[in-house]
Amino acid sequence: MRPALRAIPAVERVLQALGPIDLPRPVLTVLVRRELAGCRRAAEVPPFEAIVQRVRSSVEGLRQARIQPVINGTGILVHTNLGRAPLASAALETLREIGANYNNLEYDLAGGERGGRATYLETTLALLCSAEAATVVNNCAAALLLALRHFTRRKREVVISRGELVQIGGGFRIPEILEAGGAVLREVGTTNQTTLHDYSQAIGPETALILRVHRSNFFMAGFVESPGTPELAALARRKRLPFIEDLGSGAVVATEKLGPMEHETTPAEVLRHGVDLVTFSGDKLLGGPQAGVIAGRARFVNALKREPFFRALRCDKLILSALQTTADLYLDGQAAQALPVLTMVQASLEELRRRAENIITALGGLPAQLTVGSGKAQMGGGTLPRSFIPSVTVDIQPQTLALPALATALRQGVPPVVGYTAAGRFKLDLRTIFPSQDPLVVRALQAALAGPAG
Ligand SMILES: *Cc1c(COP(=O)(O)O)cnc(C)c1O
Repeated sequence: MRPALRAIPAVERVLQALGPIDLPRPVLTVLVRRELAGCRRAAEVPPFEAIVQRVRSSVEGLRQARIQPVINGTGILVHTNLGRAPLASAALETLREIGANYNNLEYDLAGGERGGRATYLETTLALLCSAEAATVVNNCAAALLLALRHFTRRKREVVISRGELVQIGGGFRIPEILEAGGAVLREVGTTNQTTLHDYSQAIGPETALILRVHRSNFFMAGFVESPGTPELAALARRKRLPFIEDLGSGAVVATEKLGPMEHETTPAEVLRHGVDLVTFSGDKLLGGPQAGVIAGRARFVNALKREPFFRALRCDKLILSALQTTADLYLDGQAAQALPVLTMVQASLEELRRRAENIITALGGLPAQLTVGSGKAQMGGGTLPRSFIPSVTVDIQPQTLALPALATALRQGVPPVVGYTAAGRFKLDLRTIFPSQDPLVVRALQAALAGPAG
């Protein structure tokens, strides 16, 4: 053994030096081994304390990657990176109850034998969408994929407007989903102009279906034209083709009544306009867990449920039961008071301002200038890209820290706090912070602004 390598410390010694850390020991061991292997490869052994320090920072990096609660000061209500919609407390109770016990997930209690999965939920979702039938899969992408697989088995072409070949968030590009679903893209029109005639011209013996995709995360203005859903539905019927709309968000409430927002198209409206099947997410504006709802004609919904592929996309008991409670809240008329995304959007500016003032008062004496600012909250999740909801922020101009350093310190706290920087200030939008989290925000700012020594 070369002398340098003899100096590599024992794993156990490094673990001892790390002291107590709230991660399983095998996780720590792996990180120590990895660090020591690096030393061996480099044939260079840093001082013991430096090794411990390096392991400590890799432990910290991995510890932070654990899924944990985060305080969302971004003002984006449905933030895909931050887990989209927080669940209603009634849904959380359901999760506890169902998660802790056996349940009748696939058991017919009347007959004492194997039963249907999600029979009740499928009924309530259909009701919410004014649809003949509905079912649920893992997410909206899966819902679309399933529908594409089913309808493009014999004929392959999917007719879609070039204005709808969009990318939604990371890794969800409509053309790629179509391809993955085995479909052949038949683009019609141009980015800004697609006419009914374009659709009609494109339909041929190989056409499997007409697809419409809700342009959710951006909007086009100016010289823009596309046929209305009823006209397109009439064309689909004439040509005996299924007509599917990927709605994405799926608000089942009138968004314009909740706050200063535009109207977000509802699944019921789309179906009323003659679409055969509509797909939307469970965890965007609906405010439930991650899921993809498919609603529309019973004949089609049932055919999708018979697809072998359906089995691979189905949801588990926790998702189904949390969604079941969420749907019940809507049908009981309690959604606007019970679902966090809907209550947050309705909070008054006075209420938000009062909270901002209280937070600032609690932070007196810190080396920073704190003011009540204004913000523009957004629904997010690819919904209502044009609607900015007026909001209130706590604005921070630290005296001893650069803004990026403050942002990093807050992100690395427990719980982490995420905000944004604008006009030379760090801002925390109170619309997306639960009132019960205000004391945590105060503590996080105290810790971050007082610096590591404080
Ligand atoms: C968000 C969105 C999707 C993807 O939904 P997931 O539930 O994340 O799979 C698909 N289509 C549209 C139009 C969307 O807005």
